[in-house]
Amino acid sequence: MSTPRSARRPLIAGNWKMNLDHVAAIRLVQDLALRLRGFDHKMVDISIHPPFTDLRTVEGIIGADRLPIQLGAQHCSSHEDGAFTGEISLAMLSRLSVASVIVGHSERRQFFSMTDSDVAATARAVLTHDLTPIICVGETGEERESGVTHEVLVRQVTAALGGVDRGVEERIVIAYEPIWAIGTGVAATAEDAQTACQAIRALIASDRGEASERVRVLYGGSAKPENAEELMGMPDVDGLLVGGASLGAESFAAIIAATATCYGQTAGKS
Ligand code: PEP
Repeated sequence: MSTPRSARRPLIAGNWKMNLDHVAAIRLVQDLALRLRGFDHKMVDISIHPPFTDLRTVEGIIGADRLPIQLGAQHCSSHEDGAFTGEISLAMLSRLSVASVIVGHSERRQFFSMTDSDVAATARAVLTHDLTPIICVGETGEERESGVTHEVLVRQVTAALGGVDRGVEERIVIAYEPIWAIGTGVAATAEDAQTACQAIRALIASDRGEASERVRVLYGGSAKPENAEELMGMPDVDGLLVGGASLGAESFAAIIAATATCYGQTAGKS
């Protein structure tokens, strides 16, 4: 019997990328906190992933106001410490109460030459430090046009699982982020997102069996208030990784609210 979807709490993660300095971060988090007042926080996990230079400030606000928001990072080193100029270690992130790290975002793969094996090593390091890796996978527009989306997912998911020991699968999150949808305003259809997220779960199942039912699989790529409910209505879409729309408190809060509404309606569906 498969695990009901309701066993996987939805996660809405906001990736700020290289936007908002620490002053702007204060404004955004305070505005978000106001908009989330009275919201049933047990319904949805929320994480925000500011730039490194904002982490200390945002940690302070979340802690002082006991906000139901987890702090996340956008990247980290797979190394413990040492001569890695410009990198940030997991020990440093842990000291700032960071709970999760985005691993292998397509922009890290594209602009910073992160490989599949770097992604696996980083996911392993994140898990070793008891943080949650949010591992990004997804095809380019060209790969989609050539009909090799599934092959790309097989390669990326298989490689990423190489960094995940048996028995800890439920601590990982996979984000399906088709590159052609990131920052373009053109999201995948809910059906296409479902097909890919289901395929990712099946790939995990083929290696790890029923543990796959406990892995949260997110969709990312131009998610916004207008499409959040439809995307979250899909049985294998357990949350959203949100870029542009996480930079505004109004739009990010609206996505969280849409998720809660939708999940409330669909919880229990398997
Ligand atoms: C992202 O950067 O992970 C992302 C999904 O961006 P956007 O929502 O802006 O497409």
